Order: sequence, then C-alpha cells, then structure tokens
Amino acid sequence: MKKDEKKLKKANSSFRGKEYRSYGRNGYFGEFGGIYVPEILVSALKELEKNYFKYKKDKKFKEELSFYLKNYVGRPTPLYYAERLSNRLGGARIYLKREDLCHLGAHKINNTVGQVLLARKMGKKFIIAETGAGQHGVATAAAAALFNMSCKVFMGSKDIKRQSSNVIKMKLMGAEVIEVSSGSKTLKDAVNEALRYWVSRVDDTYYVLGSVVGPHPYPTMVRDFQVIIGKETKKQIMDIEGRLPDYIIACVGGGSNSIGVFYPFLKNADSVKLIGVEAGGKGIKSKKHGATLGYGDKGIFHGAFSYVLQDDYGQIEEAYSISAGLDYPGVGPEHAYLKEKGIVKYEYILDSEALEAFKTLSVCEGIIPAYESSHALAYVAKLAPSLDKDKVIIVNLSGRGDKDIENK
Ligand SMILES: *Cc1c(COP(=O)(O)O)cnc(C)c1O
Repeated sequence: MKKDEKKLKKANSSFRGKEYRSYGRNGYFGEFGGIYVPEILVSALKELEKNYFKYKKDKKFKEELSFYLKNYVGRPTPLYYAERLSNRLGGARIYLKREDLCHLGAHKINNTVGQVLLARKMGKKFIIAETGAGQHGVATAAAAALFNMSCKVFMGSKDIKRQSSNVIKMKLMGAEVIEVSSGSKTLKDAVNEALRYWVSRVDDTYYVLGSVVGPHPYPTMVRDFQVIIGKETKKQIMDIEGRLPDYIIACVGGGSNSIGVFYPFLKNADSVKLIGVEAGGKGIKSKKHGATLGYGDKGIFHGAFSYVLQDDYGQIEEAYSISAGLDYPGVGPEHAYLKEKGIVKYEYILDSEALEAFKTLSVCEGIIPAYESSHALAYVAKLAPSLDKDKVIIVNLSGRGDKDIENK
C-alpha cells in the first residue's frame, strides 16, 4: 500500500465507518463540492490546489504561519467560562471561544493571513477578494498590507453604502475598493465580479475567498486555516474540564467559523453534539432568511455543488439576515455533507432572538457579540436551561459586535 493511501485510511478510520471513505477526496464531500467553473479557471484552481497541498506540509510555511497567528492575530484566543451567563440561564456550564479577540475582531483574519502568505509563496503579485459586509475585505486588506501586496476588493454598491466604515478601513490599509453595481448589488454579485476579474488575470493574481465555499480547493483550504479554532478549543477544554464538551454551537453563514471549531470534534460526534445555527431572519415563511441548509435545495452556486436558496426555476434567491455575515444564499459543501450524514445538526434563529441574545451577553458578561455570533448564543439561551449543571456547552464567539451597535 502506498504511503498516501495508508495515511488516508488512518484518517478515515477515526470517522464512524465506511461511509467516510470518500470524505474530502478530490474536493468532494460525498456528492457535494467539486469544481464547477468556466474552463479558463480550472488550471488556476489546479495550480492553487497543487501549491496549497505542497506548502501545507512545508516546515517553513507552517512556522511562518504560526508566527503570524501568534504575534499578529493574537492566538491562541481564550476559552472563557461565562459564569454569569451560565447562572442566568440556569443550566449547563457555558464556555465562549473568544474569536472576537482576534486582530480586527473576528475569525476571518485566520484565513486571510494563511491565504495571502500562500499567495506570496506562489509568487503572485496581486490580491483580489470579494466582500459583503466588508469584514472579509478588511481582513484581506490587512493581510495584504502585512505582506506588502497590492489588493483590490470587490463590493456591491448597496453594501458600500451600508458599510461605509469598513470601506474607510480597507482604503486606509491601502486596498482599492471596486464597486459592483450588477444584480442585487450585494455579496453574490461581488463574488461573480471577482471571479470574472480573476479569469482575466489568473497568472499574477491570487483570489482570497472568505469562507468554506466556492470550488475546490477553497472549502478544504479555508477549513484548514480555521481548524486552529477547534484544535485550541479541544486542548483548552481538556485542560479546564478534563473532558470533552457535551455541545459545541456555532453560527453558519458560509460555514468557516463553524467548521473550524467542529472539525477536530467530528470523530467524537457520538458524544459531542455539534450544532450549526443559521439565520432565520424574519421567519422561514416570510422568505426573508438565510437558512440555506434548513430550507434551501441542492444546486450549483459559486463553483460548487451544495445547498443553495433558489426558486422553482433554479434561480438564486436573495438571503436576508440582520447580520451581514449570515446573509448569503449558499453554504459550504462540507456542511451539506455533514447535514446529510446527520453528524452535525443545523437549526435556525430569528433576528429578534439574536438581538435578545446580543443584549443578554453584553449586560451579563460585558462582552458585546457580533450579530452573527448572537445567533449561536440565542440557540444556547434556548438549550442551556433544559440541561443539568454538569453539562458543558462551548459557543464559538466568532466576532465582536462593535460593528453592529449603530444598526439598532
Ligand atoms: C463573516 C462572519 C461570520 C460568517 O461566516 P462563516 O464563514 O460562516 O464563519 C460569522 N461571524 C462573524 C463575526 C463574521 O464576521
């Protein structure tokens, strides 16, 4: 047996049974994932795949990445026992994984530092990225500044108006913000435009995608850059509690912070319940929501086969959420797979419930959570009171809420 096959067998044996044999292979998670892009992009994605898997194992690359994660991003982030929140909800012990304490206030920088470092290794000169609310644009602009690379960020004109402070931040850090006024003038149109631009510049340009979505190798690569969250969490909870948690809860937009915290626990999914929380917006019936896994259908979107919000004719429907980061009609293919296999459960939380949780955490703990993370917290607020005091819940606090205080 070849060495690679042995390794794969070993990796797969930690999952539950045969059905995992094809997991993550060739960019497919079961039937989900893949590369569904115009032919001209295929070679760029192959080049990226080849380089990513090469540098992933490269000692120097790993050392540099760890250096920047520690000294620039501020890792490891704490796992904090939220005692007053736990007492107030009156059930399980609740821990917060403090991704809100990362540089720029969210987990997104874990991924952009990794990808821009890779782009530099690959000898690329230019960085492009899409952004919706501007969080990923800001994180990419920062990483591009850090590694002295030129950066263009594509952003819908509607989002430019809604998120002016992030536009200012990107420009301050030297990025050029390119206005996209096609379609709904929001995130999905910005992705389309960034992909279109990339087609014309694949030789010298690196496209930094912001979540575990898009064609292979992005879902796998972005997950690998975010897995640091789960690895730290596992070690920290073992140090503090001496055992694994009973629940891990995280919000799901594209799915990067959630897969990051879940991934090292997938092999423990028999005892650790993993729950992803989508945006229920104004309610499922209102059609104003972002619950793609819960209420979308299978389809191809932004280069991959996954779940997507679409109408009866397969046209993409707009998502809606009070939190910009969950306002996306697609979701990562790995989540589609984990849902179908029943390994992770996906629930949804309404805008109103998220707002309530936003206030509760602020007043109980003096921590203002992002609206996105507030969805995970709102789910915990429903769950915790029904559990015994010896149960342990970990919530991934994906970001801080400073960006959200002017909205309400
Ligand atoms: C972007 C963002 C999200 C949603 O993205 P995922 O890829 O699903 O993690 C969640 N929380 C915060 C704070 C964000 O900025």
